[in-house]
Amino acid sequence: MASHVVGYPRMGPKRELKFALESFWDGKSNSEDLEKVAADLRSSIWKQMADAGIKYIPSNTFSYYDQVLDTTAMLGAVPPRYGWNGGEIGFDVYFPMARGNASVPAMEMTKWFDTNYHYIVPELGPDVKFSYASHKAVSEYKEAKSLGIDTVPVLVGPVSFLLLSKAAKGVEKSFPLLSLIEKILPVYKEVIAELKAAGANWIQFDEPTLVKDLDSHQLQAFSHAYSELESSLSGLNVLIETYFADVPAEAFKTVTSLKCVTALGFDLVRGSKNLDLIKSGFPSEKYLFAGVVDGRNIWANDLASSLSTLQALENLVGKDKLVVSTSCSLLHTAVDLVNETKLDEEIKSWLAFAAQKLVEVNALAKALAGQKDEAVFSANAAARTSRKSSPRVTNGAVQKAAAALKGSDHRRATTVSARLEAQQKKLSLPALPTTTIGSFPQTLELRKVRREYKANKISEEDYVKYITEEISRVVKLQEDLDIDVLVHGEPERNDMVEYFGEQLSGFAFTANGWVQSYGSRCVKPPIIYGDVSRPKPMTVFWSSRAQSMSKRPMKGMLTGPVTILNWSFVRDDQLRFETCYQIALAIKDEVEDLEKAGINVIQIDEAALREGLPLRKSEEAFYLNWAVHSFRITNCGVQDTTQIHTHMCYSNFNDIIHSIIDMDADVITIENSRSDEKLLSVFREGVKYGAGIGPGVYDIHSPRIPSTEEIADRISKMLAVLDTNILWVNPDCGLKTRKYTEVKPALSNMVAAAKLLRDQL
Ligand code: GLN
Ligand code: ZN
Repeated sequence: MASHVVGYPRMGPKRELKFALESFWDGKSNSEDLEKVAADLRSSIWKQMADAGIKYIPSNTFSYYDQVLDTTAMLGAVPPRYGWNGGEIGFDVYFPMARGNASVPAMEMTKWFDTNYHYIVPELGPDVKFSYASHKAVSEYKEAKSLGIDTVPVLVGPVSFLLLSKAAKGVEKSFPLLSLIEKILPVYKEVIAELKAAGANWIQFDEPTLVKDLDSHQLQAFSHAYSELESSLSGLNVLIETYFADVPAEAFKTVTSLKCVTALGFDLVRGSKNLDLIKSGFPSEKYLFAGVVDGRNIWANDLASSLSTLQALENLVGKDKLVVSTSCSLLHTAVDLVNETKLDEEIKSWLAFAAQKLVEVNALAKALAGQKDEAVFSANAAARTSRKSSPRVTNGAVQKAAAALKGSDHRRATTVSARLEAQQKKLSLPALPTTTIGSFPQTLELRKVRREYKANKISEEDYVKYITEEISRVVKLQEDLDIDVLVHGEPERNDMVEYFGEQLSGFAFTANGWVQSYGSRCVKPPIIYGDVSRPKPMTVFWSSRAQSMSKRPMKGMLTGPVTILNWSFVRDDQLRFETCYQIALAIKDEVEDLEKAGINVIQIDEAALREGLPLRKSEEAFYLNWAVHSFRITNCGVQDTTQIHTHMCYSNFNDIIHSIIDMDADVITIENSRSDEKLLSVFREGVKYGAGIGPGVYDIHSPRIPSTEEIADRISKMLAVLDTNILWVNPDCGLKTRKYTEVKPALSNMVAAAKLLRDQL
């Protein structure tokens, strides 16, 4: 009866770690306070797993910031700018690497595979002197042991570590990072020796890069690294974990033939082909850690179906060789359902957060061992049945409408150039029109008003009055600044997805369903549990109010279907694209109602479209196809004179530029803060782009106020590549997190720069 968990959320059920970190960073508490909170969290997690009956309990999955950064620290790979002089790495070096400080910027952060978690990218090169500089893995192992719990210490595997790193500044981009393997393995060996000496029986290496498209040279690095480690690892049981997708056939061959490896973990939730691979031949001497409990979502497991999968696997690999596990670390799901006291009871019965998933893993392991807890299985089956048949899940009309979209195409009838002409007649905009992305600064007072309205502490009348006044201030400010296409400033919105989710049916919200995004930052994704529909208009009231305050065009402001989907917990009982089509139809209704209300410019944000790109090349086309189709569905029904904008939060879209063109928006505004060159190169290389385009002319993520000259300079660089009549001038994202003292001068300089260049045309 063996059960295992790949990893566990660190933040705590009520984000205890977040608050402890932020108070430490603010100088309101000291390092002992922070360490105490962390130690309490670790011990309660280990005890919880032990109480749930988990046999292989992970340690070193806790982190003060990020597990990849922890590995960088373990290897002593501190970039020189942090001034580290050797010795054990402490908070004084670790946190500056993670978040920067007054004198040094942070290391780069990037998305962890296709999750919403972000890791700190190691910066490596030929000069890095690796040394064993953080004993965290060993001390956590010992810490658990002193609590009476023998754990499986987890390390980021050496090959994934290198594949996830980048060449440091000044190092040739072509530097072969994998060649550093010889330099990092000695440190790994030291860690392994210490873990053995401390009494460890097992060790887990996370090698999730095995699910990516790797070439034979990269695969060879795995064979090489683990054969190098073989003698150090002798006497230990070695588990290699893969997750987030299936392992390509070649990689499967590589990893199953590693001699020193005792056990292999596979994601059987997202890795749809893993089961077949295992069936096609799994080494008889190895353990199979079967990831049947979903670490990426919040749905209760289908225990009966998982059990039959496990039974089939048991026949293949043998009873004593099968271990029940999670599909990946539970880091990517919410922490504990017990804190959801306000959630509807029926919906709650369909869910399992990390704490509940521990129970599921154990229930499956026990059932396999012939000790099936019938009560647990029948309660689970009853909840599944209620979910399947619940009228709140299924809406026949929505199902029918969404099904009708499949296989067909939806586009506006005319070309973008014809539309732009029709729009210009109506809007009469100057050359290089100026606009902003949507939100204006959200003051503490504004947030308080929204909160109090939600808590029924202020009346609807007072709320409407307050928000109306806020909008009118923002409109007046934009007119004073002489911006051409205005926004209402989004003061009624806390979050661009939540605002829509709360008004659409089929969405539920949690009180504490937080998931770590990076460092102390967490997000609370809505749960899409049912067919999505729009009971009534969502933004028309505020947008038409705002339009009535000015003669200039006012942009209606919507979040697009792909972004709503990618930033939510989605249904597991229908395909992603089906859910996306349903959201697209709801947004389409909204677009058309805005148009009827006299809104001539409508922006549909697709901030997260690129994020949803699958891990493997072979799956990209399918995703992009339905994602772009979903976007077009939202606006295929508007008149030529209605101008559709979209906005995206990244500049590296060169690889998906054709899909972006295929979205067929009239105007796209994009983030462009880091490098004009990167973004513009795609156009310089001859990609034909006929629609309006507004690459951000200044970085809103920084409090810095750009000068008129600097902005003008950027605009002229853009004009060298893009036609005058398609270029827009705007910041690179919403202004929500900035202060008015920053926004006013920055926008004023932006408008001045646009005018300066207009005069030169
Ligand atoms: N319209 C949104 C805003 O301005 C867009 C935010 C985003 O792209 N993340 O806040
Ligand atoms: Zn943005």
